Amino acid sequence: MMRRSLSLPAFFMPVARRLRTIGLLLPALAGLALLAGMIGFRVSEGMGLSDLRETGRHRLDLYAESLEREIDKYAYFPATLGLERDVLDLVAGRAPLAWGLNRYLERLNERAGTLSIYVLNRQGRVLAASNWNRPDSFIGEDLSYRPYFVEAAAGRQGRFFGVGTTRGEAGYYLSSPLAEDGAIVGVAVVKVSLEQLEQSWSTVEAPVLVADENGVVILASVPSWKFTTLRPMDEPTRRHFDQTLQYNARPLAPLGLMPQDRIAADAELVRLSRPAEMQLEETVFPMSGGFLAQTAPLHGTGWTMTVLSPADQVTGMAWAQAALAAVGSAFLGILLLMWMQRRRHLFDLERKVEERTRNLRAAQDELVHAGKLAVIGQLSAGLAHELNQPLAALRTLSGNTAKFLQRGNLEAAQGNLERIAHLVDAMGALTSQLKSFARKSSSTPRPVAVRRPIDNALFLLDQRLRRSGVAVQVDVPEDIAALCDPNRLEQVVVNLVANGLDALAGREEGGRLTITAATEGGRARIQVADNGPGLPADVLPRLFEPFFTTKEAAKEGGGGLGLGLAISAGIVRDFGGALTGANGPDGGAVFTIDLPVAVLPTDPTAVQAGDFVCPTLPSPP
Ligand code: ADP
Repeated sequence: MMRRSLSLPAFFMPVARRLRTIGLLLPALAGLALLAGMIGFRVSEGMGLSDLRETGRHRLDLYAESLEREIDKYAYFPATLGLERDVLDLVAGRAPLAWGLNRYLERLNERAGTLSIYVLNRQGRVLAASNWNRPDSFIGEDLSYRPYFVEAAAGRQGRFFGVGTTRGEAGYYLSSPLAEDGAIVGVAVVKVSLEQLEQSWSTVEAPVLVADENGVVILASVPSWKFTTLRPMDEPTRRHFDQTLQYNARPLAPLGLMPQDRIAADAELVRLSRPAEMQLEETVFPMSGGFLAQTAPLHGTGWTMTVLSPADQVTGMAWAQAALAAVGSAFLGILLLMWMQRRRHLFDLERKVEERTRNLRAAQDELVHAGKLAVIGQLSAGLAHELNQPLAALRTLSGNTAKFLQRGNLEAAQGNLERIAHLVDAMGALTSQLKSFARKSSSTPRPVAVRRPIDNALFLLDQRLRRSGVAVQVDVPEDIAALCDPNRLEQVVVNLVANGLDALAGREEGGRLTITAATEGGRARIQVADNGPGLPADVLPRLFEPFFTTKEAAKEGGGGLGLGLAISAGIVRDFGGALTGANGPDGGAVFTIDLPVAVLPTDPTAVQAGDFVCPTLPSPP
């Protein structure tokens, strides 16, 4: 056998192929992980933001409502002062400041919990005030420039957020015209503080701010945000504020809210950087970073309220989910790859096994055929003899016929010619049987009536049998059928009968061979028994071993190769059967062919292609 040598390039080929596959797979895997990561990020961020929007919206509604309620509480308060006769007399200039009016306003202010209450005349001068006895009292001040006065003097309700000019205190001014007989004679003002509300906001998780119509933050849960601006302010506006002293000349620095991404009509992602001066402030919520800003207008005012929900957590979560999705998908990808590799490996293995099986079968078929040829070799001497006898008879018959013709004995000549024809037929039958035996057989099983292959085998060995003087007894019913190939079964029977004849060789008389067949429990059993010496104990276990023989090479028929039983056992095994050898009860060897029983086609007499119907050779004259 030639040793398979691997050249170096051939050795590295699979490695190179594998590296190339890995080279292709790695980017694919990375791409998959990246894609999964991106999708994971988007989905998680989307879900997180939608949750945030929901809670933000909820908060906004809640805070806006409480602020509106707080303001509404004082809505009609200044107008009620118009019901006081003393107040009307004072502002109309009919009477001097009534004794006790200031004290009345002071008490009212205390009861209502407002910052201050005061009344102004038509010219905008403060005539009476709740803070009358304090050093920073408004009394006598000219507040005609204040927008809330202007509004009320024009007959409308005034609403104004501002920082007090005297005390610098921020508050919400509500003003009402004081009318008498349809004419406006003065203005009543109530200043309320919204600080309490503001303080309650500082404990929530998201900062809230209220900006007035000028975009100036007037209320905020972070104190330092107050009096910053949401939008940059131009110079004329700033000058106007300085004139009206609305914010009492506060610097109004920008808050620094940077819009990032608008995700809905009422929601925008913003970023807030933290100025150095805010560092010391302590809050329960973050004051810088990414926020989801949600804004709603406040009814009855020109203000807007904004809730800033911290969004960095959502982004952080989205990154974590993205990483998880990427790692998970990469892991799944690797698993899938491993599974695919394993499958391919198994597939390769299966293919190899199939190929090997095919090769083995071919090799076995060759072996069976070789065994058959060996049998033919062993038979050849006997067959030559078998043919020689009729040939000699033909010679004699033809000579006799010529003589009969010379003598004019046509009748005798015709009789001879008929015998010649018969002999030629029989010889033809023998050679064709030999040809049929020698042909390559198949291992595909089919239903076979076992009687015919047995007869054929005996016919092939006919000459040997007759010369040996061994009596053959065949007891095989015609209807016994097995699943096998007739030609191969014939080969097995030839081997067994030849072995029996070998075992009985040298015996003067009394040699006997019995062939029987029977069915039992779904199996068809054929037995070939002889009354020879039987199977010695040391031979029994090695009986079916290839090349095991006890026969000398010089024996009749070429001696033993030790393959007959090994090949026969292989043939029977191929058909799902078993060949066994044992010693018979009265000595001698008994070989049993055990095969699956078969049902014959409806016409059992039909001769199948390749089957041989054996004739009997006539005895020579
Ligand atoms: P071979 O006939 O070439 O020796 P086989 O495989 O047919 O090879 O048989 C192996 C051996 O089994 C024989 O050499 C013989 O010793 C033994 N054996 C086979 N058949 C019989 C039998 N009928 N009686 C006694 N021994 C037998």
